[in-house]
Amino acid sequence: MSSQIIPVEPFDYVVFGGSGDLAERKLLPALYHRDRDGQLPLESRIIGASRTQITDEDYRAFARQALTDHVGAAALEDEAVERFLGRLHYRDVDARSDHGWNELRGLLDDGGQDRIRAFYLAVSPAIFGDIATRISEMGLANSKTRLVVEKPVGRDLASANDLNDVLGRHFREDQIFRIDHYLGKETVQNLMALRFANALYEPIWNSTHIDHVQITVAESVGLEGRVTYYDKAGALRDMVQNHILQLLCLVALEPPSSMTADALRDEKLKVLRALEPITAGNVEQTTVRGQYRAGASSGGAVKGYVDDLEGSSDTETFVAIKAEIGNWRWAGVPFYLRTGKRLTQRMSEIVVTFRSIPHSIFDASAGAVAQNQLVIRLQPDEGIRQWLMIKDPGPGGMRLRHVPLDMTFASSFRTRNPDAYERLLMDVIRGNQTLFMRRDEVEAAWRWVDPILKAWEERAVKPQGYTSGTWGPSGSIALIERDGRTWHEPE
Ligand code: NAP
Repeated sequence: MSSQIIPVEPFDYVVFGGSGDLAERKLLPALYHRDRDGQLPLESRIIGASRTQITDEDYRAFARQALTDHVGAAALEDEAVERFLGRLHYRDVDARSDHGWNELRGLLDDGGQDRIRAFYLAVSPAIFGDIATRISEMGLANSKTRLVVEKPVGRDLASANDLNDVLGRHFREDQIFRIDHYLGKETVQNLMALRFANALYEPIWNSTHIDHVQITVAESVGLEGRVTYYDKAGALRDMVQNHILQLLCLVALEPPSSMTADALRDEKLKVLRALEPITAGNVEQTTVRGQYRAGASSGGAVKGYVDDLEGSSDTETFVAIKAEIGNWRWAGVPFYLRTGKRLTQRMSEIVVTFRSIPHSIFDASAGAVAQNQLVIRLQPDEGIRQWLMIKDPGPGGMRLRHVPLDMTFASSFRTRNPDAYERLLMDVIRGNQTLFMRRDEVEAAWRWVDPILKAWEERAVKPQGYTSGTWGPSGSIALIERDGRTWHEPE
């Protein structure tokens, strides 16, 4: 079975930061896949823009290399590659001066005024505002303009508001696409299908039946060159404020009345607003900060954070949080969140653990009755597994076993699992904002995160060291074990 291709209207995609890492590893490969699958109209163009002075031909050579490096050999077909490269153009444009803007406008005007113009800001957030302003003031926008903004949107509520104000001065909210690529992941979409296309789960999706939820976003890598940005941000701002809170929202939201953008985002907003505050009074009981020390990763010895940084720092590279949602559905159900760098393995998953059975009819020889768990794996090996108790097959009496019911979709349907960016880049063209963050959601997330940052400062909460290649500091284990629970060990 192959997935359905819904053609989109002709467009010009301008990728600011077209020569950067994100464009090379994600955006160009994603657009290639959509083109190869026949989704891009013939006249659609992709225009790289950044300060480096190169020609269209140079940019095509850069893109060819990007495809060679980041698209699997099986998907590289000569005809498709040449067609894709033929769509590419490049203009050297400086976000902070007038350089190159007239030339970019001229190129866009060649495509006519009716064509969708999407501007993807794959650049440092420091110049999001400059670019948005110049697009508008230099006359590059038309009636079908969309603006895609990468994370992070601000470093606290005040700076997020400043940025959103600048964007809002030039673009309507329905033109602004704040991307969180976690929302475009196939498994996250499937979480919505599981919850709202089945009668099975929703009646038990509440504190009566669910014991707790864990959300882990673990990286095995360290700083990877993002030194300046990361040391100013830290794990809470870099991962929790956006990716992890978005995942929490999708687990916890009430059924929206439809999958339209505002219906879904209204429900996510209610979850964010219902998060119990973490302040100086409870920050030490509900959060753990960590920072990696030297250790081993992927089999090799690695340095600690301060050595990678070549300086001293109190920035956290790990955070664990016990979050609670103050509403009828979730009261008393902890959401344990954790994320970090240089952990044992790269892995993102949501684990929903159901309550224990109220009474066991089996005697001790049957073995323990484990709690049912729904494990939603985002990466690697996207998929969903429902862990159930069954009888060990065969004669020999009643012995119980905890086994996974595998709902790994890619293998069931024999389709390639598309990267999240493929879906999201096309949603922008379709004007569908369902999987993008609305301004008030970003603000609500900062309203919860800011007091944690402030409380860490007030209570002088320093990061605890953890050895690279482990699952984080001992405080993280204590955080969950105090409640008589343990972190889910990946299979
Ligand atoms: P990057 O590799 O440093 O690329 C930055 C790009 O911006 C380069 O193409 C650079 O080209 C261009 N640029 C810098 N100053 C400019 C200016 N004044 N005018 C025009 N262009 C300018 O960064 P990145 O890793 O691709 O990240 C880009 C954005 O995506 C950031 O907001 C980041 O947080 C976000 N993001 C990245 C990833 C990822 O995997 N890389 C993942 C999630 C989010 P020139 O030097 O030639 O101008």
